[in-house]
Amino acid sequence: MEFSDIEEKIEHEAIEKSMQMMSIQASSSDSNPEPGPPHEALFLALAYLPVYELLSMSEVCLSLRDAVNTDVLSWINIIVDKPLNRRLSEEILMKITSKAEGKLRTLALINCERITNRGLQQIIEKNPFIKKLYVPGCTGLTPEGIIKAVEKLSENKHTLESLHIRGIYRITKDHLRNLQSYLQVNSPQQNQKKQRHILYHEDTNYLLLANEEGDRGIDVEICPKCDEVRMVFDCTKDACKRKLPAYRCRGCCRCIPWCAECGGCVELDSMEDAVCKDILCLDCWLQLAKCNLCNKPYCRQHANLGSNSSDSPGFVCDVCQGQSQQLYYVEYEI
Ligand SMILES: [Zn+2]
Ligand SMILES: [Zn+2]
Ligand SMILES: [Zn+2]
Ligand SMILES: [Zn+2]
Ligand SMILES: [Zn+2]
Repeated sequence: MEFSDIEEKIEHEAIEKSMQMMSIQASSSDSNPEPGPPHEALFLALAYLPVYELLSMSEVCLSLRDAVNTDVLSWINIIVDKPLNRRLSEEILMKITSKAEGKLRTLALINCERITNRGLQQIIEKNPFIKKLYVPGCTGLTPEGIIKAVEKLSENKHTLESLHIRGIYRITKDHLRNLQSYLQVNSPQQNQKKQRHILYHEDTNYLLLANEEGDRGIDVEICPKCDEVRMVFDCTKDACKRKLPAYRCRGCCRCIPWCAECGGCVELDSMEDAVCKDILCLDCWLQLAKCNLCNKPYCRQHANLGSNSSDSPGFVCDVCQGQSQQLYYVEYEI
């Protein structure tokens, strides 16, 4: 059995166990008295946790398990990210979403490759009031499947507010226009959203977005440079920000090389490589600590992958240690 298979099995069993634990009656452990109930604030925090943390909390004690098990509020925003995302089966997702009892408001599936159009449709049929649907990097979905889901979520005067679909393959301008018509992207709120800048080096925090009132619209648009439907970024460099709107530095990551550290555009003659294959501008490259052997830095996001060297200060990158170059899978094509 491959290591990844074993890992998958363990994780699958862990999720199943958590799900089973949640359905065990509290009376089964009456002989084992609890030391005291958790602080009330902890129960309030449950509604703000991603699924993995929520399942872990359900194993801490009986009262938390009961709270997670019975409190629908804990499940109205469902966020599945690392480490569950790549192994999450539709079967388990169905069980998890059923906890919301039809009241699901946010469904965020980040890089959940196993989710198919059919699975998404089933969840949406049972949860017709979803307001925020985030499925970036869910490569098992197609634009047609997403349109069908959004169509369903637009029935009975319900409006989907926010949709994230970067990393879904083959989205055309027609698909985008179709989706925009459902999300009413020409409303005044949408025009405000359009002015919000997306920066390459900033990670999207789905926990925050799920609880943010103003988050509206679709994350992809038509790149002004290549005319394709892509994620479009604004430049953080002061000189670029001062340009007139028509000449502003905006584009997808295929059209403009963006620095993974500062989010600025990078000129070809000052482009540097990070160990993790991310692009860096010369200024950022100079400031980052380098591997003792290859003299390359990690970007901030991947900085934890190097190992401290026992003989000398600094670190040795995982590539020089010969561990694996496969650690850097392509997250998703933004
Ligand atoms: Zn482009
Ligand atoms: Zn930079
Ligand atoms: Zn620029
Ligand atoms: Zn190295
Ligand atoms: Zn990196």
